[in-house]
Amino acid sequence: MLLDDLYRDVILDHYKRPRNKADLDNVASAKVHENPTCGDSLKLEVVKSPDGTIEAIRHAATGCAISVASTSLMTEHLAGKTVEEAREIARSFIRMMRGEQDNGELEEWGDLVALQGVSKFPVRVKCATLAWHALLESLRD
Ligand code: ZN
Repeated sequence: MLLDDLYRDVILDHYKRPRNKADLDNVASAKVHENPTCGDSLKLEVVKSPDGTIEAIRHAATGCAISVASTSLMTEHLAGKTVEEAREIARSFIRMMRGEQDNGELEEWGDLVALQGVSKFPVRVKCATLAWHALLESLRD
């Protein structure tokens, strides 16, 4: 497998133009999540609507293309989902990255499929899952 597979067009696009990105100071969460092995860092804020669904996820992510793209893709994918659905998707995504689970129905994953190849690079898995662990932690609060 070529390294090129890691940086598919979708990943590069989300890295260059991260969706739902906010200034660090404008993200309410005080917690900074980090992946020291790569230098990835992010703050995450989950905005819920009155009915409990996720209205938006704002982030201030910096780091490598994979971590920023994974964060950006996650915020798009989970908007409009219920908290329970988001948890389920996050756990499932983390299992997929660790190679513990088949991808199931690929259509369900949408653009997240672009990150699939990362699971073959164990060193980079933490980059791809950082945002998702941060999300699970935010949803616990
Ligand atoms: Zn990284």
